[in-house]
Amino acid sequence: MKNSFYEQTLGHYARAADVMKLQSDVRAILSEPKNVIQVNFPVRMDGGALRLFQGYRIQHNNVLGPYKGGIRYHPQVSLDEVKALAALMTWKCALAGLPLGGAKGGVQIDPTKHSRDELMRITRRFTHALGTNIGVYYDIPAPDMGTNAQTMNWIMDTYMNSVGFASRNEHGGVVTGKSISCGGSEGREKATGQGLVYLIEEWARERKMALDGARYALQGFGNVGSWTANLLDRLGARCVAVMDHKGAVGNAGGLAVEALGKHVRETGSAAGFTGGQPMKADEFWGADAEIMVPAALENQIGPKQAAALKAKLVAEGANGPTTPEADAALRERGVDMLPDILANSGGVIVSYFEWTQNMNNERWDLDEVDAKLKKRILRSARNAREAAARHRTDLRTACYIVALERLQAAYNERGIFP
Ligand code: NAD
Repeated sequence: MKNSFYEQTLGHYARAADVMKLQSDVRAILSEPKNVIQVNFPVRMDGGALRLFQGYRIQHNNVLGPYKGGIRYHPQVSLDEVKALAALMTWKCALAGLPLGGAKGGVQIDPTKHSRDELMRITRRFTHALGTNIGVYYDIPAPDMGTNAQTMNWIMDTYMNSVGFASRNEHGGVVTGKSISCGGSEGREKATGQGLVYLIEEWARERKMALDGARYALQGFGNVGSWTANLLDRLGARCVAVMDHKGAVGNAGGLAVEALGKHVRETGSAAGFTGGQPMKADEFWGADAEIMVPAALENQIGPKQAAALKAKLVAEGANGPTTPEADAALRERGVDMLPDILANSGGVIVSYFEWTQNMNNERWDLDEVDAKLKKRILRSARNAREAAARHRTDLRTACYIVALERLQAAYNERGIFP
């Protein structure tokens, strides 16, 4: 790979900034994160030994509202990766029209190698180390790879225990993606997959293609991947291949999504699922499917994978799954793309709903959450398509343009302090 993930992300940004002629002062401000927070914190392991962990929180931009973005636990977490993911959150929130900025956090650990108790102590100590760098009106984390509602509940509890007794209940909104019992929102767990499926449905409608019987392949069967599969399954689409960190499995007739979900929960991976045949990575990327959904890590679709792809649509559930070279090659071949900052924005949209409910002591039902999500994400897609037509550019660049126009307007109208 020529550039780091952060440089690649900046490449998309620079392309859009050139097309829309972003003002040079705004361009300079947005090309670096505002705050880079790195913490080292000790945690006692189950066996009694002490281990030092390193955690990051990158606050990229907050001109539109409090910093917002997930926390990732994965062995590949690095400062470069978290910086890129934080910038993507700024564009994503701006594109969705949310009063939120962009941030991301991470700890370089393999969560599958730690007991539940160790994960709890790591999470609580990381939260403690971040201290007042997070807060309901300042920076609001959420789940990402390797973290989930349980992780968010621990962060919330640790944070609430570190503020004064009387104001404790004012701080439940310090994280989103919590379980329902702890103040989470209906529909948040499925939100990223649900938003993606609303966009895929619209894409299919526009192409007069029936989703009933359509074939799709999925990389990643975690939160985003499994919900996307569950929801596409209900529409009659056939999941013909799934690949995760341990291997791939395929079935031209369609994998039984519910049974696969059970297998993943029990074994930690899709590999070894007996409802299909094992596949090599090359076979996975070349699977006969109309839709490819990368929903795992960044930089998964490079030029080689792009050349193998048979899909008509790549729907980016993951952040940054397509390298810039592969992106250009797919564009050239006329493969449609639902780019990450649009495609997976359902998660942060419903996180915003959760935060709003927490701040107003409200509870919305699932129908209300879904209807509001659908309206917002389809509006983002419409805005992006209009910008693509206006600037005669591709949808990814257009998504960035919509976001950058909003950020630029805020800087222009507020001015630069002092
Ligand atoms: P998760 O931890 O629930 O699942 C991750 C999946 O990726 C697992 O199936 C895992 O096996 C697979 N995976 C990990 N390493 C891999 C590798 N090297 N090769 C192939 N597969 C691998 O994570 P998630 O929350 O579903 O997030 C997946 C992606 O979606 C990430 O890029 C994340 O940033 C993005 N995303 C998540 C949300 C959310 O709400 N959770 C929102 C927006 C974007």
